[in-house]
Amino acid sequence: MSDKFDVIVIGAGPAGYVAAIRAAQLGLKTACVDAFVGKDGKQALGGTCLNVGCIPSKALLDSSKQYFNLSHNLPAHGISVENAKVDMATFIGRKDKIVKQFTGGIGQLFKANKVTPFFGKGKLLKGNNVEITGNDGSKQTISATNVILASGSVPIELPFAKFDGKNIIDNAGALDINEVPKRLGVIGAGVIGLELGSVWNRLGAEVTILEALPDFLSVADADVAKVAKKEFEKQGLTIKLGAKLTKAEVKKNEVALTYEDKDGAHELTVDKLLVAVGRRAYTEGLLADDTGVKLDERGRIVVDEHNHTGVDGVWAIGDAVRGPMLAHKGSEEGVAVAEWIAGKAGHVNLETVPWVIYTEPEIAWAGKTEKELKDAGIPYKIGSFPFAAIGRAVAMNEAIGQVKVIAHAETDRLLGVHMVGPGVSELIAEAVVAMEFKGSAEDLARIVHAHPTLSEAVHEAALSVDKRAIHKGN
Ligand code: FAD
Ligand code: NAD
Repeated sequence: MSDKFDVIVIGAGPAGYVAAIRAAQLGLKTACVDAFVGKDGKQALGGTCLNVGCIPSKALLDSSKQYFNLSHNLPAHGISVENAKVDMATFIGRKDKIVKQFTGGIGQLFKANKVTPFFGKGKLLKGNNVEITGNDGSKQTISATNVILASGSVPIELPFAKFDGKNIIDNAGALDINEVPKRLGVIGAGVIGLELGSVWNRLGAEVTILEALPDFLSVADADVAKVAKKEFEKQGLTIKLGAKLTKAEVKKNEVALTYEDKDGAHELTVDKLLVAVGRRAYTEGLLADDTGVKLDERGRIVVDEHNHTGVDGVWAIGDAVRGPMLAHKGSEEGVAVAEWIAGKAGHVNLETVPWVIYTEPEIAWAGKTEKELKDAGIPYKIGSFPFAAIGRAVAMNEAIGQVKVIAHAETDRLLGVHMVGPGVSELIAEAVVAMEFKGSAEDLARIVHAHPTLSEAVHEAALSVDKRAIHKGN
């Protein structure tokens, strides 16, 4: 036994590294074990999010948006640019530099907070000991009073379209394509399919997305999904709903696909195929057989409302447990668990976790959709406001989409806020604050919003709940 800690965190993604920092801030002697190997072959902290998720995808979304705007937005401002080109080495290199900056930053934060990092695969043994296997096969065991499992998630693989890293790729592969593919197939019109499909579509790839479900983006509010689909199709994305992939064969650097929809079987040939059909909790090699930690039917670590596994001193957070697979959800759980361990009052409210999809237009929501409320028999009223009537959005030439506010029919309490349009990734924060404070539509309606800003759409939508929006007919 080389060392004894108060807390060992297994996994240094946004759930684990945040838990480790918060635990150390609270005076707990903390270690964090992570096995992620970066593009340069060295240990890279930050997990999926920093290495092959949130951060690199947003870097490519922003670069590709700049390029797309040259031909699709700037002409309306009277600005034209001839012969615009993308230098792929710079395009991908900029993303890699950003990743390195942030993964390296976690190392510095660990140093500043005195978190001890270990590089290797951690396995929880009985009695809160953690065996660490290094890349060279070397083993050491450390122990702690508390262990926080934050092992994250991995992409789901389809048995008939296995990842080969070249033609059939996952999120990591789709963030590292060095030449714009002529034809990109995407399986799954979910968050990754839409974000990364948009990146390559903007650079000129013909992108076809096959989605098994008959409805588009059914996790979002139906009104939002409708606007988004129309805009994505205008941008050139081909979205086929109710389309089930049945075969994917790599032939001479192409992938021959067969899929079935209500009209029968179809064939499609693409140069690359991104499979983005969801992610699953990653727990391979994490738990010795006798730890007592349980997994549910979907392979997620079972925890209670305090992220406790039921085994003394063992907690679990982030993508590896129930709830949305979002970085900020995992980070909040990390903070809360560290605080619970330190005897403080941690707090996570899964009901107000915001969702953002970083497409153009952006999509954001918090709380319940109209369908969820209808299914639950909860009476509600709705207000909405289009960005077409927002001066700032029109001035930006981005007057697309709307804000929709759903409040309880009797109490006026905010139940859900759904947005599609410019800058909604930032606007959603106001709705989350209001909902977290158990606010009403009336509360939002009485708050002064600066003019001219996009946030006026939130204000007007809240006013419209009681049919008193000023800048539209009610
Ligand atoms: P992870 O980030 O997966 O980290 C887990 C870490 O634990 C990894 O480093 C892994 O190597 C390590 N590990 C696992 N097992 C062991 C072990 N036994 N020993 C040692 N180390 C181990 N979410 C958002 O909120 N916003 C976004 O914009 C967003 N964009 C995304 C884009 C893409 C392309 C993808 C794939 C995901 C995106 N997500 C986004 C989701 C987000 O990345 C995850 O929700 C988040 O990373 C989960 O954090 P985590 O710490 O639970 O797990
Ligand atoms: P997803 O769950 O968002 O979407 C998967 C889609 O694939 C669904 O629409 C599903 O119906 C469809 N699908 C499933 N099996 C299929 C099949 N065999 N054929 C065709 N379609 C099929 O999953 P994802 O896009 O892989 O992303 C995983 C998770 O990562 C997200 O749910 C989210 O939690 C996280 N993420 C978040 C962000 C963000 O916050 N902006 C970005 C990327 C990823």
